[in-house]
Amino acid sequence: SFTLSQRALNITPSATLAITGKAKEMKAAGMDVIGLGAGEPDFNTPEYILTAAKQAMDEGKTKYTAVGGVIELKQAIVDKLAVDNGLTYTTDEVIVTTGAKNAIYTLCQTILNPGDEVIVPSPYWVSYTEMVKLADGVPVIIEGKHANQFKVTATAIEAAITPKTKALFINSPSNPTGTVYNREELQAIADVAVKHQIMVISDEIYEKLLFGEAEHVSIASLGQAIKALTIIINGVSKSHAMTGWRIGYAVGDATVIKAMTQLNGHATSNPTSIAQYAALGAYTGDQTAIATMKQAFGERLDTIYPQITAIPGFQVDKPSGAFYLFIDVSEAAANCGYDTVDAFATALLEEAQVAVIPGSGFGTPRYIRISYATSLTLLEEAVRRMKNFVATKQ
Ligand code: PLP
Repeated sequence: SFTLSQRALNITPSATLAITGKAKEMKAAGMDVIGLGAGEPDFNTPEYILTAAKQAMDEGKTKYTAVGGVIELKQAIVDKLAVDNGLTYTTDEVIVTTGAKNAIYTLCQTILNPGDEVIVPSPYWVSYTEMVKLADGVPVIIEGKHANQFKVTATAIEAAITPKTKALFINSPSNPTGTVYNREELQAIADVAVKHQIMVISDEIYEKLLFGEAEHVSIASLGQAIKALTIIINGVSKSHAMTGWRIGYAVGDATVIKAMTQLNGHATSNPTSIAQYAALGAYTGDQTAIATMKQAFGERLDTIYPQITAIPGFQVDKPSGAFYLFIDVSEAAANCGYDTVDAFATALLEEAQVAVIPGSGFGTPRYIRISYATSLTLLEEAVRRMKNFVATKQ
């Protein structure tokens, strides 16, 4: 048999995939499983975007493109940043990638040397730490406290900075917590980053999914000094229900973007040509479909949030963004006789046929993440099942 590389052996398998894999098996065996694990909108890609893709195919736009994306799409991204975020960039500060995930992966490969530290606020999106490790970097995890809506403070960040610190992840709105940093909090973080000259990797993929009073602020918009240090990560996956098309991007310092483009030239080449034109259509067409999806997410949240909090031993604050609820179920798990939330989540799947993601994969073992990117009918049924499960076990 083959000997695997130390790099491959060091990867922590995705907690998300473990439970969703099991849920799929149960479904295939004919069981009525409700999956609340998915990290993607349940809506179809809007019609006007499909039309743009079909048109691209008919026009023969099916060949290799420039590695970093076609110029029209880069320009559309530049225009989007100006309109939505008040930011001025040029197209040589943009790279289009195979999903936002590839943007972050390639960025880590481009900026990190062995032993370089990257500060990762927890709870974190599962891939950040693994991508840092895959670039021989060291993830330095700092805890965002539940009492502070899972946000890390500028003071905590500063305390984690060492001479080896290269970068800091900020993910607002956040996966898994749905928390949104406000302008003052970001300003304080920006001040620390500028003081210590740390790069900020600002993952803004959930930018369009905000509820109530919450406002999206890109940390890059807080002055020239922080803009120069920030690489913005974004894409159309979550905003335009386009997860399968694989179009994301990174925006920032032209030297970094050029190096990322050179690297991807040997790794992925260009993101799919047709998908690039679909994304171009997504940004240049009528945006009402986005507003409609956002409204649906908001209604679901308003409906199920009080039902979830009514389950004994489930504690969660109402999130301001994304489409997740990150719930402290440690009390419910203990009351039901489980030693760990992981065991509780497994039992929920096996006995109540509800698939949730245990928080251990996000660095927070007391929690589960549920996604409300599914129909209200299924959501309400899932909540009923969880409530009954907890009631019968206690
Ligand atoms: N960043 C965060 C926080 C995410 O949750 C995800 C997807 O789950 C991504 C990035 C990756 O997005 P994409 O599908 O465009 O690669």
